[in-house]
Amino acid sequence: MVLWGISVRNTKSHEIIHFPVRENESREANFKRVKEYYFKLKKKNPNCTVELISRNQAFPPKTETKPKRGYMYCPYCRKERRFIRNEELDVKNCIICNMSDSDYWVRKFNHLFEKPKRRK
Ligand SMILES: [Zn+2]
Repeated sequence: MVLWGISVRNTKSHEIIHFPVRENESREANFKRVKEYYFKLKKKNPNCTVELISRNQAFPPKTETKPKRGYMYCPYCRKERRFIRNEELDVKNCIICNMSDSDYWVRKFNHLFEKPKRRK
């Protein structure tokens, strides 16, 4: 099971490093391990954006502010993100973690259930 990833990116590349939970490792211990690695990566890559990405659990927004135009709140990045349209699947995906707007929590936290569905 993968609970956390670390996104390391700059204008040229983007990589998400995953940390599968080890045998007999608790969620807390796993998070601690990921966090330590996150700080290490941040130090090692001052020219990159380094962010913790949730791969399993959705987090509610900290504030109820409306995202900027063209942005949505991503409960897995725990940030406002741009979502890019995938024509083939008729969804939009978070540009960083790739979660789609067909996910329950993405819909819920962005009030998409209340909006009429886009054209079919
Ligand atoms: Zn995301």
